[in-house]
Amino acid sequence: MQKMTLKHTKELDIFFNEHRRNCTNCGKTFVEGDTAHLGYMKGRDAALLCDDCAPMLEETVVRYYWQELEYEEPLPDDKLWRYMDLAKFVSLISRNELFFCAASSFEDIFEGAKGVEKNKEKWDAFYLDFFKHAVSTAPGRNPCDNTHEKIIEEANCLLNQIEKVGQKSREYTYISCWHLNSYESEAMWKLYSKDAANAIAIQTTTKRLYEAFDKDPTISIGKIKYIDFDKNFAPINGAFWYKRKSFEYENEVRAVISKIHSSGKGVFIPISIDKLIEKIYISPYASEWFVDVVKSLVEKYCVKADVTYSMMKARPFY
Ligand SMILES: [Zn+2]
Repeated sequence: MQKMTLKHTKELDIFFNEHRRNCTNCGKTFVEGDTAHLGYMKGRDAALLCDDCAPMLEETVVRYYWQELEYEEPLPDDKLWRYMDLAKFVSLISRNELFFCAASSFEDIFEGAKGVEKNKEKWDAFYLDFFKHAVSTAPGRNPCDNTHEKIIEEANCLLNQIEKVGQKSREYTYISCWHLNSYESEAMWKLYSKDAANAIAIQTTTKRLYEAFDKDPTISIGKIKYIDFDKNFAPINGAFWYKRKSFEYENEVRAVISKIHSSGKGVFIPISIDKLIEKIYISPYASEWFVDVVKSLVEKYCVKADVTYSMMKARPFY
């Protein structure tokens, strides 16, 4: 088997993200557990190949144990909204950076949670069994180490480690939340701006958001799944894609980035404002003068997007 060169480039990682579902030569759909071979064909074209096609690679950069994503991707043209007050809007367009909040700084203490405390014993018992099996059947393990005490000790150690990593990941996982909706939402105007009279909403699409981050392969964009934590657990590696049912109205899509060496309440990530913003909506509760303020700001910072009064501002006839 060809040796992996591990010469990753951003372009190759983008290629992987955009083609991860099928072998780029024969079209075979990857399933959980397959090996995916990422590298270059003759002529330096990037390729992601299945086992059968892998010998065609001139350079194998890396072999992945193929896994399904932990989240569902929204469609490229899905409309995403972010409702905010004027200060946040000015910060965005003047810095050309989007603020990602640390999971540990969210009001929702279930950010990154695997389950509810009262069910923790069940979770621990499951993973303890899992680790006991993994430890005792690990390839190359010395049979002398397979005493009952030793296996329990090692399995417990692994269980403690996942708990520590789970806690720690809340500090280095950063999130930007968006509302998925084909239309403007009355509830969101009131919810996401402390002062609905001075609020704006920017509307983008999944594709725009992805391109505005310059396709950064370290940023994941996915839909939140709402589950009943009383009866379910979030998956061990996907806890940031799960929230409680009581948040279902948010219909959230989020961009998530891990920054192991960062700490604090959040990080600013560079973003192309023109690629990001399709339209800017002004709160239906805002006064005329507020519309002028936003228009002049948009002009000052050379933002190309249209500024529109909320669609809810339209007058009815009877
Ligand atoms: Zn193939």
